[in-house]
Amino acid sequence: MAKIIAFANQKGGVGKTTSTINLAASLAATERNVLVIDLDPQGNATMASGVDKYALKNSIYDLLVEDNSIEDVLIQNTAGKYDLVGANGDLTAAEIKLMDSFAREMKLKNALEPVKDIYDFILIDCPPSLNLLTINAMAASNSVIIPMQCEYFALEGLTALLDTINKLTSVLNSNLVIEGLLRTMFDPRNKLANEVSQQLKSHFGSKVFRTIIPRNVRLAESPSHGLPAIFYDKYSNGAKAYLALAGELLRKYDSLDQTVING
Ligand code: ADP
Ligand code: MG
Repeated sequence: MAKIIAFANQKGGVGKTTSTINLAASLAATERNVLVIDLDPQGNATMASGVDKYALKNSIYDLLVEDNSIEDVLIQNTAGKYDLVGANGDLTAAEIKLMDSFAREMKLKNALEPVKDIYDFILIDCPPSLNLLTINAMAASNSVIIPMQCEYFALEGLTALLDTINKLTSVLNSNLVIEGLLRTMFDPRNKLANEVSQQLKSHFGSKVFRTIIPRNVRLAESPSHGLPAIFYDKYSNGAKAYLALAGELLRKYDSLDQTVING
């Protein structure tokens, strides 16, 4: 059954989309079957996967609001070698329309049900807010990855995010856990970045991914070519970092499986 992971942080520009599509491509490169859900009306994950958001026949909007089936809205084998449910500006209206619908927080979870056994991983790129779309993502997920920049205000928003996750676990999804905090756009020469990174580690311990994503120009350039970084410049430090993150995640799941097998 698929591991479903939401990439969430209500701050914009922290690397949610970059992390979603580059981890997806890295997991796909290890022969995992991966689905990316673009849940942001900006459609950045869609464009960065080489899919024109303005030309989408069906999108996440049709899945959430029009009750189309997931098979109807899926785009197979994008430039990153993963499947995609795309998003565009239509999704802005979805939040309002969803407000009146039955089980509005569970729309995405229910919609993913038919494909849960097809994929190894389903990665959900959330919008930069703690709105109903993000709630839908978290209600559907097994875990949350929180990408964050190691800067002064980074920790400020984290409390609100952790509160939301806590509330969700008590009301909608008791299985939801924090997969990890991911340090993104990291510059090791920056003193403050190192300090914040240390703070994160002392507060959150093993919940902080060991892999650090460096600031890397290839990661910033590749979306405009409609490619994840491993297909744009596989030797770049950015591409290597996301491959390392995939390795870290897979090793964790493998060792968890072993624990289960060994009782
Ligand atoms: P979010 O989805 O959280 O808004 P993005 O992933 O879109 O954040 O990243 C914000 C901007 O920073 C984008 O222009 C992206 O290309 C760039 N970016 C993200 N991660 C890196 C990185 N590690 N190095 C350099 N640029 C990055
Ligand atoms: Mg984004």
